[in-house]
Amino acid sequence: QKAQMAGAREERILVVVRLRPLSDKEIIATEVADWECINDNTILYRNTLREGSTFPSAYTFDRVFRGDCLTKQVYEEGAKEVALSVVSGINSTIFAYGQTSSGKTYTMTGITEYTVADIFDYINRHKERAFVLKFSAIEIYNEAIRDLLSSENTQLKLRDDPERGTIVEKVTEEVLRDWNHLKELLSICEAQRKIGETSLNERSSRSHQIIRLTIESSAREFLGKENSTTLAASVNFVDLAGSERASQSLSTGARLKEGCHINRSLLTLSTVIRKLSKGRQGHINYRDSKLTRILQPCLGGNARTAIICTLSPARSHVEQTRNTLLFACCAK
Ligand code: ADP
Ligand code: MG
Repeated sequence: QKAQMAGAREERILVVVRLRPLSDKEIIATEVADWECINDNTILYRNTLREGSTFPSAYTFDRVFRGDCLTKQVYEEGAKEVALSVVSGINSTIFAYGQTSSGKTYTMTGITEYTVADIFDYINRHKERAFVLKFSAIEIYNEAIRDLLSSENTQLKLRDDPERGTIVEKVTEEVLRDWNHLKELLSICEAQRKIGETSLNERSSRSHQIIRLTIESSAREFLGKENSTTLAASVNFVDLAGSERASQSLSTGARLKEGCHINRSLLTLSTVIRKLSKGRQGHINYRDSKLTRILQPCLGGNARTAIICTLSPARSHVEQTRNTLLFACCAK
């Protein structure tokens, strides 16, 4: 029996939630898991000590994934449809949103890998077209953009192109050859993110990572001829900064003045997502942050969006878990 795939209707954002299991460390520290997925759509807060408290205890989404779900299943039922729209020429973006240590990187890495495997498979089954699959990776830290495939530590700039929209100038784009090449590039990105981390504490919890796959294709029979049309689209995998940064900056607004811009991208994203989920009317402030400027062509309009909210089940994280769920509710 095939599990039902959570469908992303064109006009809305697919919102799914993934609970991670308690870690060994948490178990040793006698942490208690207070959250439970009671069916495919509902996550429930069960802490009898807090019964009668004012916040709601059940939250409903397109799909919720229990702690023992494999990333493969999260991909198949919560991301695949959105990610693979790229082969039909439709841009898309998949976000991982959640507090630090809730499983964003773990989830996004797996989903990126499964997507690439499916794209290679698609390319092999469609010999009538010629495909080029490109990979790029950047990090946004304090509103500065860094190329994760380059060892030069220069800042990348954004430029507005009349045809292509906002582009990241001089970003390294690698043509993906095969699976091993992907693994190689992913480990370069991981290493680059770590390099930053030694000099600046907790960098990965403050920075956003965007991996972009771009597919270009044209019908072989028209290749090189004037009437050949190239289809091009991108899918973005966005591993966001820890969501605790958003709530921190809301509570301590003054901090922004210290140049703690990390929150600007996260806060602008929240506003953009909220507006998109309300039907895309009126002005959307994409230009207020680097993250939303870069993603603009792949959000809204004809693009598809999925948000995977990752949660820790631990009692000690209940406040952040609730904040994540409130964000998720705003997005759906
Ligand atoms: P984040 O990127 O949100 O800070 P990570 O993805 O680094 O969090 O996850 C924190 C730790 O928890 C890692 O050691 C990771 O391997 C583990 N982890 C996260 N999600 C799961 C999961 N669903 N199942 C098992 N282990 C997980
Ligand atoms: Mg991470």
